This record gives sequence, structure tokens and C-alpha cells, in this order.
Amino acid sequence: MQYRNLPNVNSVLENDAIQEIVSVYKREWILELVRETIDQARKSIAEGNECPTVLDIIETIKSKVAFLSVQAPRQVINATGVIIHTNLGRSPLSHQATEAAVAASAGYSDLEFDLANGKRGSRQYHLQFLLREITGAEASLVVNNNASALLLGLSALSNGKEVIVSRGEAVEIGGGFRVPEVMEQSGAVLRDVGTTNRTYVRDYANAMCAETGVFLKAHASNFKVEGFTAEVSISELVDLGRVNDIPVIHDVGSGALLDTAKYGLAHEPMPQESITSGAGLVMFSGDKLLGGPQSGIISGDRLLVEKLSRHPLARAIRIDKMSLASLTATLMHYLKGEAESEIPIWKMISADQDQIRFRAQKWQNCVQVNTEIVPSKSAVGGGSLPGETLNSWSLAIDGESVLGGAESLMTRLRENVPPIIARIEDDKVILDPRTVMDNEEDTLIDGLRRCAI
Ligand SMILES: *Cc1c(COP(=O)(O)O)cnc(C)c1O
Repeated sequence: MQYRNLPNVNSVLENDAIQEIVSVYKREWILELVRETIDQARKSIAEGNECPTVLDIIETIKSKVAFLSVQAPRQVINATGVIIHTNLGRSPLSHQATEAAVAASAGYSDLEFDLANGKRGSRQYHLQFLLREITGAEASLVVNNNASALLLGLSALSNGKEVIVSRGEAVEIGGGFRVPEVMEQSGAVLRDVGTTNRTYVRDYANAMCAETGVFLKAHASNFKVEGFTAEVSISELVDLGRVNDIPVIHDVGSGALLDTAKYGLAHEPMPQESITSGAGLVMFSGDKLLGGPQSGIISGDRLLVEKLSRHPLARAIRIDKMSLASLTATLMHYLKGEAESEIPIWKMISADQDQIRFRAQKWQNCVQVNTEIVPSKSAVGGGSLPGETLNSWSLAIDGESVLGGAESLMTRLRENVPPIIARIEDDKVILDPRTVMDNEEDTLIDGLRRCAI
């Protein structure tokens, strides 16, 4: 009986709201959606449910279209105080880096074309020189991300032989990236030496044999072993490897080209230090502390880099033109000595505390609910510098003074356009100005006015 009340396809299609959708989207697609939705309603009735009304069906179609038509990923405002927030897309790009990506992709470019002689060129050509100035390395190769850089490095250099790594460094970096598993994929045989907390150069020396292909040193980016610890330095490994012609791969992880110690943080290993210590290859991410696009940078000895470039995997994990262009623009900021003023993450790391407090006060003056300005901690994030924080100031909104409490305010903030991401501490919603970009400030204040009720 219920089926009789089901609308037919044409009557739904003729509805004004659906007609409005049809004026934007392909008619055949919307027709298909209408059929599918009516079919689902029929099945639902067969299961003993009420027959949906025409309005129900139209709402279902509208929400399906709305879900599919939002831009993804969407731009959000990061008020969490976590600078390199992995779930929020890691490093935001500088203005120049963004423009470079647009320019390289909106039209044609000399990506693999040599303008001097009109012949085929290499997409790696220009970046090599830039990276030589910055890291001091003879040669470089840039790939899709650091995980693939490591996979390529181990595949090309181990040749199915053993890779010796400290037990304290056979770690999981996050997002399912585990050093032992990458090694297995590369065909190399993992030979872990030493113990979780202490590894000496003699551990490598004792394990070294004719079957040894590579020494790998991986920075344990996202955790800290404290107390009774010992690790082998790159130069010790290089000295040991030199005797038997064993190259050292150093995965430094976040690729800090500036010294984090200058900002009151622990010292993060720097690619240029590895090169100076004689590492055969140093590898790092482009979108962590370097502050650029997703990419993996491999710098080091010319012969080793050439070996990697020739490996078939290199083609499979090659970097795209947009990332290449914005990485070049990002590296230029280092050469100009303007990283702190132009690269968003370094701007945030080096931000003046009084300035942060001033911004929090400005936000405070725009909302009517109970708030205070509180001292807080910002984190570098991105799996780097675990436990290290920067002193900051935040706007704290009292959960009891807002409609529905703190969780409810968090939901409203996430549903704002654009979404605002904050954190809760002691029933207060905390917003840290450090990670909010200057040009997002007005939008954030508008959002706060709407949501903090
Ligand atoms: C982050 C990290 C990686 C993975 O880099 P992606 O660029 O995310 O692929 C590898 N090794 C270390 C030590 C890292 O910190």
C-alpha cells in the first residue's frame, strides 16, 4: 500500500529545488540520483519502514549533491597552536611558494625542457644547484615524500644486502610508516644492532661483514629516549663505513634548515650538519620544518645520487611540477635569509609573545561570553621535537558561559565557514593565535562572534 505514495521520477525532477540543482549539474547525473533515491525508498518500505514524503526525497537528493560538491580538502583555520599539524595538512606555504605552484600548473612550463638548446631537460636540474648552496651537498634528487626517498635509497643502495640500523632507530614514524617495513619492501635485510637505549660504534663494527650494504641512521623524530642513552654520531659511522666502502644514509626526518635551538627548542638535526659530517645521503621531508610542499629531498654524494636517479623506482615516485615549483620558491627564502619573515611555520615559531598576547586580546574584545587571556603552550608538531613547546598566550572561552558548553562550541566552530579548529582544556575552549595566519584574523573574529554565544 505504501508504495502507491512514492513519488515518480518526473514529479521529483520538476520540483523547483531540484530544477535549481539541474541548472548547475549535469541533468543525467541528477536524474540518476533521483532514480537511486526513489529505489532506496522502495527498499526501505519493503523493510517495513514508512513511505518517505516527496520533501524527504528532495532533501536526500539535495544533501547528496551538497556532500559531493564541497571542495576537499577544505581550508580551515588552525587555532590549535600545533604548528605542523599533520591532520591539518602540515606546513602552510609562503605566498611566493603558492604563486609558484599556480604559475607552474596553470600553463606550460620548461619542466623538462632545456631553453638554452631546445632539447629535453631534467626536472631536477635547477633544484640541484639551489640545494647545493643550502645543504652543501654535491648532488640532490627530489621525490614525492621522505618515505619514498628512504624506500628508494634502501632499494638502490642495499642491493638485497644487509642494512645495519640501531635498535633504537628501527622505529615507527607515524601514519603506518615503520623503518623495518620500509626496509623489507626495499628488499634489504634488516640487521638491527645495539639496544633500544644504547648503541655504540662497536655494535656496528661487530655486525659489519661482506653482506653489509648500507648503514642507516634514522632520526627518532616523534619520541624521546631519556636517561641512560648513547647513540653513534654520523661522523663515527662515516669513518667506520669508509674502510669497507659502506655508505651511510641519514634520515633526518623534518629537515630543519634553521637551528631550532635559537627559539628555545631542542636542537633538531640539520641536513647541512649531516653533509658536513660526511653522510653519503641525507633525506628529509619538504613539508615539515622546511616549511614547503609535500616532497622528499635526498642530498649527498654525486655517485650515490646518480645511482638512485637511475633506479626504476625513481620514476614511480617522482615529484610533480606544482610541488617542485613551490619547493624552489620556499628554498629561495633561505637563500635570501628571509625564512623567518616569509615562511609561515618559521614566522609562527619565531612569533613575538607580546604580539601573540595582543592578538588574543583583540579576539577577546569581540566576544560577549566569559573569556580570559591565559598563558599556554604551542607545539611544533609534525612528529618533530616531541615534548618541546613554545610559550604562548591564548584566548580561553569558559565552557559554562556558552550555549551547550565547551564541546558544543567546538562543534559550532568546526561547522563555521571556514571551520575553526581549537582545543579544550579544563572545560575551556583554547584558541592560540600563534597558528592563525594574519590574513585569517578577520574571518576568525567573524566566526567567533557567530559561534561563541
Ligand atoms: C616524517 C618522517 C618520515 C616520513 O616523511 P614523509 O615526508 O611524511 O614521507 C621519515 N622519516 C622520519 C625520521 C620522519 O620524521
